[in-house]
Amino acid sequence: MSLSDTPNPLVVENFVGGSFVKSSKYLDSFDPSTGEVWAKIPDSDPTEVDDAVQHARNAFPMWSKTTAAERAKILIKIADSIEENLDKLAQAESKDQGKPVSLAKRMDIPRAALNFRAFAESICHQVNIIPEMGCMNYTVRNPVGVAALISPWNLPLYLLTFKIAPALASGNCVVCKPSEITSVTAWMLCKLIKDAGLPNGVLNMVFGTGSEAGEALINHQGVNVISFTGSTNVGRHIGQVAAKSIKKVSLELGGKNAGIVFEDADLSKVVPATIHSCFLNQGEICLCTSRVFVQRTIFDEFVQRLVKETKNLKVGPPIEDVFMGPLVSQVHLQKVRSYVEIARKDGARILCGESVDELSLPAPYQKGYFIRPTIITDLSDSSACMQEEIFGPVVCLSPFDSEEEVIERVNNVKYGLCSAIWGQKGDRLLRVAHQLHVGTVWINCWLVRSLDMPFGGMKESGIGREGTSHSLELYTEETTICYKFQ
Ligand code: NAD
Repeated sequence: MSLSDTPNPLVVENFVGGSFVKSSKYLDSFDPSTGEVWAKIPDSDPTEVDDAVQHARNAFPMWSKTTAAERAKILIKIADSIEENLDKLAQAESKDQGKPVSLAKRMDIPRAALNFRAFAESICHQVNIIPEMGCMNYTVRNPVGVAALISPWNLPLYLLTFKIAPALASGNCVVCKPSEITSVTAWMLCKLIKDAGLPNGVLNMVFGTGSEAGEALINHQGVNVISFTGSTNVGRHIGQVAAKSIKKVSLELGGKNAGIVFEDADLSKVVPATIHSCFLNQGEICLCTSRVFVQRTIFDEFVQRLVKETKNLKVGPPIEDVFMGPLVSQVHLQKVRSYVEIARKDGARILCGESVDELSLPAPYQKGYFIRPTIITDLSDSSACMQEEIFGPVVCLSPFDSEEEVIERVNNVKYGLCSAIWGQKGDRLLRVAHQLHVGTVWINCWLVRSLDMPFGGMKESGIGREGTSHSLELYTEETTICYKFQ
């Protein structure tokens, strides 16, 4: 599975019923650092999706009857195998998505392994017998059936495995549809899963577009639960489709996350941490900060330090020691650039990055989708850049005066995914945290979370929570048994 000895372009296959199967048509997948086609991805049609769902349905009676310990054993083998293949998977993730190889090695691939390990361990420790009222009352949880798992392009293996692991651990069979923009590591995972001994048909992978393969999957009568991570618009549509056929559904959607910096924050720590939270993975993490509200007394100093350190960030080929690689696609680059242009028309000041700082790269990277991290000020809260998800390395800074004001402004968007608060007065930090309408609040940190904690968003950032116990709720149905002895 080395990338050096695979054909160029790489040809990805669907994984159905335990076999790798060719598709009738293919899509091009681009290396975002050069703009060259590097892989061919199946453009699966409804017949291919139907075949995958049928295999999952056929495997379900057998897989759902295995014990948690048997399932956990296979999931742990998969986790081990991901760790053994860390380098290859990290290289592929970087080539497909644009993130630095070093980041994929440090974050994405270890997290994919942890997803399998954490759910394997957690499923072996579910206790649900509660004796009371003169009867034995208890609940049993059974797997739902066939799960459709649909994932986006920004953390390809990380997010897909966060769905696969709990669905399999709790005894479901799955049909996955990764993003058509980044499909390669999902395909590589199928090989590892097959070698780990997962029975045929338990996991199936169909590649292709959302409008054809995705649409056929969410509408399929053989699917019982849909877990979707992606944009709010597609999530809204999936919610409607799920409602029509009463399928269980989880939606992890977009965000417009804010940072709040109080005047007592230690800027020597907060400035680098804010840079990290705004620009890690090219700003292409749903949890990235894209608005930062800074208390007016320290606003000028904060801006000056943030701009200075941001200008020093290295942007370039992801195989090198860089902080940021290219954006994932040409279309996405154009979208991010268009927001900077809107900000300029709205009268904003662009302090660094797009259209301000030069970025010259050697061949063959001139056609890559690179953009420098961009900092914007002087925008009203109602402007597009302060309200809409940009999902790239662009952050807007704004001063605030009072605690009440900043809470109101942070909450004044349609999204509710996460926030990060920086400062020292513990009572103030907690008082603010409790009033923010978001699924996660980080205090003096960012992107640190135990898998046991619920993860998800409110408002237009989604419905439902994922995490070791929360995901198991999604992938199981609970029945209460009340047994009065005669
Ligand atoms: P997207 O919504 O365009 O696509 C996500 C997935 O849905 C892809 O696999 C796509 O092929 C599929 N899809 C598209 N249309 C479909 C349809 N009609 N039926 C079924 N499937 C369909 O999102 P994207 O551009 O890949 O990802 C970026 C978005 O994901 C951002 O909005 C980001 O905030 C969000 N995201 C959210 C989280 C979270 O946990 N809340 C995490 C990562 C990314």
